[in-house]
Amino acid sequence: MKVFISGKLYDEEEASISVFDHGLLYGDGVFEGIRIYNKRIFLLEEHIDRLFNSAKAIALEIPSTKDELCKNIIDTCKANDMDNGYIRLVITRGKGTLGLNPYLCNKPEIIIITAKIQLYPEELYKNGLKIVTVGTVRNHPEAINPRIKSLNYLNNVLAKIEAINAGCLECIMLNHKGEVCEASGDNIFVVCDNIVKTPPINSGALVGLTRNKVLELASLNKYKISEETISRYDLYTADEVFLTGTAAEIISVVEIDKRKIGSGKPGLITKELSTLYSDYAKDSGISFV
Ligand code: PMP
Repeated sequence: MKVFISGKLYDEEEASISVFDHGLLYGDGVFEGIRIYNKRIFLLEEHIDRLFNSAKAIALEIPSTKDELCKNIIDTCKANDMDNGYIRLVITRGKGTLGLNPYLCNKPEIIIITAKIQLYPEELYKNGLKIVTVGTVRNHPEAINPRIKSLNYLNNVLAKIEAINAGCLECIMLNHKGEVCEASGDNIFVVCDNIVKTPPINSGALVGLTRNKVLELASLNKYKISEETISRYDLYTADEVFLTGTAAEIISVVEIDKRKIGSGKPGLITKELSTLYSDYAKDSGISFV
């Protein structure tokens, strides 16, 4: 695979950046994970907008326009002949000193990596995930706002460690008020009395693009949707629970903290939303044929 770094394509083995890059030294940078379906880049414009907003929030000026960045992404996908897969778009603060000062880093790096992806085994998409809530609280919005998709994912990594230690592949993180927030790398939904609910943006979750698309598709298909505060009680007593994310897509959750969710099998509304989402995804997006 070829990897794009700041204007040039390199062979994977040759692709490298400085050890003085603050992306490495301090997790100082932003990123996006983008999906490719059938030689089309899914929700590209939305990803680029979110990237620029994340960058703005950390006072990082991306050395490229949105259009140039889209062209770089398309060229990288073409060079790697990607039909289906995943794009990791990373902007680092760039090379600096060993001190924190980001203003001493004079050129952010733009990195575009493409890869094949399958987040969970097929069997789990059929039977659902068993997960736990964890003690690691999601970043306080006035510390690092979770709307910033930054290279500093230690908060999520700590949660993931707790999940794995508990024998699970994913987990649910609560916010600083003890409300349900999101999974370590996905957003969370519950279905209750046929209403499709997810925590509001100010719960302290990433504003997931899959989340937004699922809310839109649910509403277009006559489901009632609601962005509202969700407690652990609401999770345990929900009819259905599912997670959404670019890589994970839509995956059902059938057990949380040893409580069976609904019937203990993926729910009908989750399945229907999943079909609506894959039907939508397979032929939308920017084509690069
Ligand atoms: N929350 C977190 C913490 C994430 O990292 C992600 C992306 N993997 C999501 C939610 C889902 O966002 P999206 O649907 O835009 O991929």
